[in-house]
Amino acid sequence: MTSPFVTPDLDYDREHLWHPYSSMTQPGNIWPVESASGVRLRLADGRELVDGMSSWWCAVHGYNHPVLNAALTEQAERMSHVMFGGLTHGPAVELGRRLVELSPPGLDKVFIADSGSVSVEVAIKMAIQYQQARGETGRTRLLALERGYHGDTLGAMSLCDPTRGMHHLFSGILPEQFFVPAPQTRFDEEWSDDDIAPLKKMLADNHKSIAALILEPVVQGAGGMRFYHPEYLRQARRLCDEYGVLLIADEIATGFGRSGRLFACEHAGISPDIMCVGKALTGGYMTLAATLATGNVADTISNGEAGCFMHGPTFMGNPLACRVACASLDLLVSNDWQSQVAAIETGLNEGLAPAKAIDGVADVRVLGAIGVIELEQPVDMAKLQPECVARGIWVRPFAHNFYVMPPFVMDQEDLAFLTGNMVAALRSTLRPGR
Ligand SMILES: *Cc1c(COP(=O)(O)O)cnc(C)c1O
Repeated sequence: MTSPFVTPDLDYDREHLWHPYSSMTQPGNIWPVESASGVRLRLADGRELVDGMSSWWCAVHGYNHPVLNAALTEQAERMSHVMFGGLTHGPAVELGRRLVELSPPGLDKVFIADSGSVSVEVAIKMAIQYQQARGETGRTRLLALERGYHGDTLGAMSLCDPTRGMHHLFSGILPEQFFVPAPQTRFDEEWSDDDIAPLKKMLADNHKSIAALILEPVVQGAGGMRFYHPEYLRQARRLCDEYGVLLIADEIATGFGRSGRLFACEHAGISPDIMCVGKALTGGYMTLAATLATGNVADTISNGEAGCFMHGPTFMGNPLACRVACASLDLLVSNDWQSQVAAIETGLNEGLAPAKAIDGVADVRVLGAIGVIELEQPVDMAKLQPECVARGIWVRPFAHNFYVMPPFVMDQEDLAFLTGNMVAALRSTLRPGR
């Protein structure tokens, strides 16, 4: 007798459940997972897949981790949730303490949110309330980079790339924001000041309307998996200060070691005024995010007309999620994430290099524990993904990019298996018959 919680009812799934960016009439391939452990997903038919995605940047310590399991069950037996209005608890306070200690200097005030998109909404509202409190009531818009991705809620969506994203479907509904071209100088190229010119001009012309600049530091994720030069960030920081514009760093994907620094801002040695974190915060156990702000931002908002910050989710500071997040952050430190990520960077560089020779591959790049094979044409998902599963790896390509961000705990043998099969899967789908 198999439980429906172990072996899902696929027909019911197809008929009734939305998946991310899915169609109810033309559902894509779906593979049922019955359990996951370490770096492996176990499918309902018993096959095991080596996981290259960390469940979208999250599961940095791998699955079913005994330390995270213990934190979760211990907390569940004490208290799963209480409202955060008028009450507080140890898991929230200890999470706040860890985030303030680990994050770039100056980010001392913590708003705990439910998901990455919500933390971006919170950041937007903080920026607007901050400018209002300073009497800058004309600064009602945000400035973002093309090729960016900041989430799927309306405010966050208004900041995503305006041509490649979903803007056209929601025009008239989305707030209108300002955009500048994405940085062009690659992470390891020689910096050219031309790259900052559009931002400079935009701020000079429009700063009186701009509350904040939001960007993904160094790594533009879902908008193209691009790694840009840290000098862009340093100059953006200076320009924001010059024009009274807040700098919001969206570290939801890059935070907690993924890019080779604990936060990608550290590549440039800068601190933003507001920073969003999420994804890997709970080690992939459950949804949780946070928006950190400087004392100046927090005090200005608090001393403004409203007298408070206007946001308060029902499940704010959920004790289960906060407790697991604390355990995950402690693991990150005790596991020596720097060496883990450095080893993965080396393994990805070696393992993905052969892809450069495949016809149809435009670029291969690696930064920290992120490896990208960029194709000349959009990936043929219907072919490539089943090919990966057949070869025993879990990779979910998107647009032109066949990319991985493995759990930090992956050893070199599994990493070689993962990258070797990515290259082989690409060869067999780009050049059928070979
Ligand atoms: C995933 C992501 C978000 C949105 O987070 P959700 O938890 O999916 O709402 C925002 N910004 C960046 C950079 C992300 O990668």
